[in-house]
Amino acid sequence: MRYNRSGAPSLPFFGRLSALALDPIEKKPLYHFYPGSRILSAGFFGCNLACPFCQNYRISQEFRGRAAEASAAEAAGTAEEVSPEKLVSLGREADSVGLAYTYSEPLVHFEYIAETAARARSAGLKNVLVSNGYVSRQAAREILEVIDAANIDVKSFSGDFYRRELRGSLAPVLDFLECAAAKIHLEVTTLIIPGKNDSAREMKELSSHIAALDSDIPLHLSCYRPCYKYDVPASTYENLAPLVQTAREKLRYVYPGNVTVEANTLCPDCGSLLIHRRGYTVERSGFENGKCRACGHKVPVVG
Ligand code: SF4
Repeated sequence: MRYNRSGAPSLPFFGRLSALALDPIEKKPLYHFYPGSRILSAGFFGCNLACPFCQNYRISQEFRGRAAEASAAEAAGTAEEVSPEKLVSLGREADSVGLAYTYSEPLVHFEYIAETAARARSAGLKNVLVSNGYVSRQAAREILEVIDAANIDVKSFSGDFYRRELRGSLAPVLDFLECAAAKIHLEVTTLIIPGKNDSAREMKELSSHIAALDSDIPLHLSCYRPCYKYDVPASTYENLAPLVQTAREKLRYVYPGNVTVEANTLCPDCGSLLIHRRGYTVERSGFENGKCRACGHKVPVVG
């Protein structure tokens, strides 16, 4: 994504977007941040992890191994160029709550995100980051200054899995969660891959870790489908259901994802329906002014 060209930094992918779409915010997924709204979502190229099951491998991994600056610049040249000013103005023109930086890993374009998010904030837009959280503490602190909400992928609670399968490490991701939980609205996603990260023990460790930050942080457990280099059979709702129950022992809001079942938000105190979701259809009728209509329990939903 970046080169040293005769001693000066070169960013051939600055502003080169792989996708731009107005998505339901639930697609990020964010369930407790402006539920039912839409958000202009920008996609990028490249990633700092190498997940062999990446669902977006064409845009995240395409340039791995093509280290020559010329070939990367040539590839970047085929993508639409959208300056930070332009993206903010598109966000303002769209029926959008803000801008989401998503699809492949946005933080490998740190300079672009930092500049765009600062401009978006000044223009009254919210900034949403969908990331693997695999950056240094310093980078995390800096970018969180201009981000309002994030969904961070925790691929597994095993450092060995991160090293062996993803060519990364878990510790920076956990650091990112800690920084984000203290600063912004945070949700977490784990793609459940049968036989790889789906043990009850691992789910207990992950949910306990998140609960120690804040037991109101929503956790999304998503169904995996075979993709890229993985041919492990797809996970089903039957794989997710027991893990959702395990995680609910520690966390108040745990949702199954990539499945056709409803993913509703219930009041953890009285069980009343707060937000009804089917697909991307959302009805938020069970709470008002941040409180459950039935029992007055505080509902941790922003917007
Ligand atoms: S972190 Fe996300 S975008 Fe990057 S390789 Fe893994 S799944 Fe793909």
